[in-house]
Amino acid sequence: MAQQAQAGQPIIILKEGSTRTRGRDAQGMNLMAARAVAEAVRTTLGPKGMDKMLIDSLGDVVITNDGVTILKEMDIEHPAAKMIVEIAKTQDDEVGDGTTTAVVLAGELLKRSENLLDQDVHPTVIAAGYRAAAAKAREILDTLAYPVTLKDDALLKQFAITAMTGKGAEAVGEKLADLCVKAVKAVVDENGKVDVDDIKVEKKVGGTIGDSEMIQGLVIDKERIHPNMPKTVKNARIALLDCPLEIEKTEIDAKIEITSPDQLQSFLDQEEKMLKGMVDKIKATGANVVFCQKGVDDLVQHYLAKNGILAARRVKESDLKKLAKATGARVSTSIDELTKDDLGVAGLVEERKIGDENMIFVEQCKDPKAVSLILRGGTEHVVDELERAVHDALRVVGVVVEDKKYVAGGGATEVELALRLKEFASTVGGREQLAIEAFAESMEIIPRTLAENAGLDPIDTLVDLRSKHEGKKADGKNFGINVFTGEAVDMKKAGVVEPLRVKTQAISGASEAAIMILRIDDVIAASKLSS
Ligand code: ADP
Repeated sequence: MAQQAQAGQPIIILKEGSTRTRGRDAQGMNLMAARAVAEAVRTTLGPKGMDKMLIDSLGDVVITNDGVTILKEMDIEHPAAKMIVEIAKTQDDEVGDGTTTAVVLAGELLKRSENLLDQDVHPTVIAAGYRAAAAKAREILDTLAYPVTLKDDALLKQFAITAMTGKGAEAVGEKLADLCVKAVKAVVDENGKVDVDDIKVEKKVGGTIGDSEMIQGLVIDKERIHPNMPKTVKNARIALLDCPLEIEKTEIDAKIEITSPDQLQSFLDQEEKMLKGMVDKIKATGANVVFCQKGVDDLVQHYLAKNGILAARRVKESDLKKLAKATGARVSTSIDELTKDDLGVAGLVEERKIGDENMIFVEQCKDPKAVSLILRGGTEHVVDELERAVHDALRVVGVVVEDKKYVAGGGATEVELALRLKEFASTVGGREQLAIEAFAESMEIIPRTLAENAGLDPIDTLVDLRSKHEGKKADGKNFGINVFTGEAVDMKKAGVVEPLRVKTQAISGASEAAIMILRIDDVIAASKLSS
């Protein structure tokens, strides 16, 4: 890019091929790109939301209703559009649910800001208004929240059910919700914190979703490596190995010259001795179960079986870590290092059949917080989507257990927020008021979209909801839309509930991203590197 200098001499500022868009053009393009992404996931919101089929460059297919999965799979290039994807990712990291909600909200905030820009409201004024509105919204949300106790299993189940609806799991939602609540309660630590990574989720194609179960212990998707090994080991003493139980090939090419059959025999004998030595070392520690991350030689398998040791090989590193935590074992990186003190303990290690395949169950672990869920389903796509639904449900129940606060779902909270924020706007005055009003109206995109996706009339629905919320009744604030009947009902009573954090995070994430996109008025892009 060149600018004319006084003497008529061009000064080169930007590299050849760079492009620059400024002012309203830059804003227009960014807003359009970001809104397009938000629009793409809008149809998936809510229990009646549709699914998307995504096919990657290798032809792999993902069918999902999960906002963050859709956005991650879409190969998005536009930088402003990528910022919308970031909202979904942050929402997923922070709370695990509400990803579509956050993105749809951001899209609406941007749409309404475009109208304001057209009316010549300056972007910084809009940004200030949005910021004030978001802070007020969080304040209002706190007053709308209800407390929940850990003992209220029926209520906790409702969070899981609400999170899973629309994700293909509702037919057996009750049962899965029950499993999720049990699993989360099993891993709450003494400070009331929940790390859902402590819950090991294994999926197995086959059977029906209803065959899914929870195991008090760990499930390892491996089978014992030799048929003569015991299937069941009680009072297990477990060795975890991150080293191969075979003779490693040398990195350099070495040649051994053998000139007589005796030498060959003694070479083979030596090899066998070394392999047997490995088993002797394991045996000497008193271990009766071995999980090995690497390969295990046939001969070692034979000797292990002969000594009544149950072993599995090529166990994932993450599984080994979980086993270490659950059984109190230490992972050994060399067989020579392994001692009695490195072993973990479990009451029972057993190979059992799940569908057609064998899995190893490690139960009655030293750490009672070790739990696993086995998810079943007819096809791979079904179990994959089930896993995503269960992931959301576990996170949501975990968040509620940590925060102990929740709000009504089904658009109820958003309608109430819209109403209260409009009242707040009238106290502000000036142009910022316009932005706060726009923010308030943006909240209604959630009930509107829920209605649209359910084939209901969005205007009628909103009018109905507003009148309930404006009414004198104390529980008016909990009225949301029953997407199955189209009526406005008390969502708290109907059991459509969500953790408070889902809403606060969605509002923070959406407003921050919208503000950031709005404040850009100059886009300078370097020329693409040719590959
Ligand atoms: P997200 O990725 O944002 O969680 P979902 O597709 O899971 O998106 O939809 C969540 C929305 O659907 C929330 O606003 C929630 O309150 C609403 N919802 C869930 N279950 C019901 C229900 N049974 N009736 C009405 N609304 C529901």
